[in-house]
Amino acid sequence: MIDKKLVSRFLIRPGSRASLHRRDPGWEEINTKATSKKDLKEKAQAALSESLEDLRREQDVLWAADQYSLLIVLQAMDAAGKDGMIKHVMSGVNPQGCEVRSFKQPSSEELDHTFLWRTMKAAPERGKICIFNRSHYEDVLVVRVHPELLGKTGLPADKISKRIWDERFDDIKTYERHLARNGTKILKFFLHISKEEQKKRFLDRLNDPSKHWKFSAADVAERKHWEAYQAAYEQMLSATSTSYAPWYVIPSDSKWVARALVAEIVARTIADLKLTYPKVDKTKRKELDAARRALEREA
Ligand code: ATP
Ligand code: MG
Repeated sequence: MIDKKLVSRFLIRPGSRASLHRRDPGWEEINTKATSKKDLKEKAQAALSESLEDLRREQDVLWAADQYSLLIVLQAMDAAGKDGMIKHVMSGVNPQGCEVRSFKQPSSEELDHTFLWRTMKAAPERGKICIFNRSHYEDVLVVRVHPELLGKTGLPADKISKRIWDERFDDIKTYERHLARNGTKILKFFLHISKEEQKKRFLDRLNDPSKHWKFSAADVAERKHWEAYQAAYEQMLSATSTSYAPWYVIPSDSKWVARALVAEIVARTIADLKLTYPKVDKTKRKELDAARRALEREA
C-alpha cells in the first residue's frame, strides 16, 4: 500500500511554482528502500495490484451511485507511457463505466470552435470515468511551443496577444471549476520522464521490430524542443493546479512506479467521495419481496 504522505509529494500545491528540474523523474524519489530496479519493479507491481482491487470496487459504487463522474487528464512528453498507463490502470474496471478520449491535431470542424469545445463534448457523464489522452492543455503546450499554430486556428488577429496564455489558463480554470461544481471530480497527471529515458525508449522502438509501429520520426523532431516544452509545462502546472482540479507530477522513468501511483490516487479519490449504493424505498422493497416469494414458489 502506498502511503498518503508519499502520494501528496507529487501534488502541485495550488498557487505554488512547479519546478520540474527539482522533481526527479526517476525511482530514487519514490522508494529509497528498494535495493535495485528489479526490486522496485516488483514492489510497484504489488502495490499496483492492490490499488487496482480498490479501484474496481470504487468504480462499481461510482457507477451505481450515478451522481459523480471522474475526469482523468493525462499529459506527457512522447514515449512517457500514456498508452501503457491507460491499459494497466483501467484493466479490470467495468468497460461500461469507462471511456478514453484521445486528442490529436484539431480537425477543421474543431478549429472552427473555441479550443475548449471538443473537450466539453467529451466530458464524462455521471457515474463514468473518462480519461483524456492529451487534452485541452495541448492548447497551452504544443501551441505555445509552436506559436505559428495559433495562426492556423482562425482566431481573429486582435485576439492573439501576449496575454493569450494567461487568458487560456483562466478559461481552463473556469471550465474545470464549472465541471467540478456540477459533480465531475478532476485529476490531472503529468507523466514526468527524463530526456535520457525518452532517448532510451525511442532507441528501444527503433531496435525492436515489434515496436517499430510505435516509432514516429516527428517525435524525434519534437524532442529538439525539449526545453521549451519543459518551460511551457512548468508555467501551465503552476497556473492551473487548483483544489478542484489538482495536478500531480508523476515520476515516470519507471513505468511500474508511475502506474502504481496513478492507480492509487484514482482509487483514493473515488473512495474520498464516500459514495454508497442507492438505497431502495418502501415500494421498491415490497416489489423485491414479492419477486422473491414468486421465485421461491416456483421452486
Ligand atoms: P501515440 O503516439 O502514443 O499514439 P499521441 O498522443 O502522441 O499518442 P499522436 O497522433 O502521435 O498521438 O500525436 C498527436 C499530436 O497531436 C501530438 O503531437 C499533439 O501535440 C498534437 N495535438 C494535440 N492537440 C493539439 C492542438 N490543440 N493543437 C495542435 N496540435 C495538437
Ligand atoms: Mg505520438
